[in-house]
Amino acid sequence: MLIHLHTYGCQMNQYDSELVKSLLSTADPEWTSDPEQADVILVNTCCVRDHAEQRALGRLRQLVHLKKFRPWVRVGILGCIAQARKGELFDQIPGLDWVIGPDGYRELPQLLAGSGSAPGVLHSDAGESYDDVIPTQLAGPTAFVAVMRGCDNYCSYCVVPQVRGRERSRPLASIVKEAEGLSSAGVREITLLGQNVNSYRDGDHDFSDVLRRVGAVSGIERVRFTTSHPKDLSTRLVQVMSEVPQVCPCLHLPAQSGSDRILHLMNRQYTRSRYLEKIAMVRKYVPHVAITTDILVGFPTETDQDFQATMGLLEEVRFHGVFSFRYSVRAGTTAAAMPDDVPESVKIARLETVIERQRAITRELHDARVGDSELILVEAPAKKGDGHLMGRTPHDEVVVFPGNGANIGDFCEVKIMEVRGFTLAGELLHIRESNSLQRVSSPSSHLRCCM
Ligand code: SAH
Ligand code: SF4
Repeated sequence: MLIHLHTYGCQMNQYDSELVKSLLSTADPEWTSDPEQADVILVNTCCVRDHAEQRALGRLRQLVHLKKFRPWVRVGILGCIAQARKGELFDQIPGLDWVIGPDGYRELPQLLAGSGSAPGVLHSDAGESYDDVIPTQLAGPTAFVAVMRGCDNYCSYCVVPQVRGRERSRPLASIVKEAEGLSSAGVREITLLGQNVNSYRDGDHDFSDVLRRVGAVSGIERVRFTTSHPKDLSTRLVQVMSEVPQVCPCLHLPAQSGSDRILHLMNRQYTRSRYLEKIAMVRKYVPHVAITTDILVGFPTETDQDFQATMGLLEEVRFHGVFSFRYSVRAGTTAAAMPDDVPESVKIARLETVIERQRAITRELHDARVGDSELILVEAPAKKGDGHLMGRTPHDEVVVFPGNGANIGDFCEVKIMEVRGFTLAGELLHIRESNSLQRVSSPSSHLRCCM
């Protein structure tokens, strides 16, 4: 059976697609990147914003058309849209065969085995955590590991708690086992995933224990994590970031807004000053930390004054990077009952203002890196070709440099030479294959790394 699986959305969705591949391995499938060749087409979807939802639904409408020429083909929608819209999707997308929410993936092999059967909807709400399922591994030196699923925070704009269910943590032992397996397969860097990793609990263990244990797995040299909710970010966690050398000096701490009034309406459960206190605490323990954030503009009733408070926050914190979004109403959320009263043109203008200002701040922070030496984990050939490679610094900055004999999975010491857009361009100084450092050119002054 030839299966095409397309993934939209966040890192958790990418991870879930690997879980799905693992669960389907019993059906002995072959995977294809070409939907026109496939017998089964699965689309893993995201509905956190309206734009993401419309894109995925549009793609599905195109894909079901393939059944005209190959009537045996079956098409299934997975993920958050499936959970949110359930059976109504069969009316919206005529020809769709299966609707399978994030907690229903275990039943996929049976569903595919009887692929001539009637349309099926699977959205078990049993609090599935897929503890015992080890996702297939994407080739490469980096991988994701989910530490928890769901979310209990109910930010007023957000559909995640509805579509991903209540928060549940995976047992620490199963996380460590997965990390060990990844290490044996050649993975060097793990990103731990959860909607709010700071509320991780397994008995007496909290997320700082997860960081310590995964950092101690032999062969895992870098550990990243996302996302931290500001209200739950603890001093204990930040201390562990500073103590465990494998944990990268990076923190994604979504602020959403700089206005206390809007933060309150969003049910974020912190104020601007509390958020700034957390930033100061993080910088005290991890002085060179790279902090990134999410900003949501155009929330109901957001005034120019509220928006200026958000712009002020960008100036005050000087984030390394910002993921910015314009608010869209999500059915079933608390904010859906509020008037969506910020005109689309104003939302777009505010979004552009955030993007433009942040681009300049990121550029300034990147310019200050020129001349530094950085340890890069090589992830892939660079798009520019010519033997160039692409990797990341411990601070998660993308660096491109001429490979000169380095391989994917090597750690390379690279001198940053210039800034090109959001990418740093460098020159290779040393290749460190496994545990040895091999000199390629002149020695560097200072090696900043997380190892
Ligand atoms: N758990 C993470 C966020 C997950 S959703 C956290 O707490 O930050 C990722 C981002 O999508 C959010 O941070 C928010 O900025 C954005 N988002 C969520 N709901 C949205 C909506 N209704 N409209 C636009 N953006 C939204
Ligand atoms: Fe959504 Fe808030 Fe949960 Fe993040 S913390 S997933 S924004 S409800």
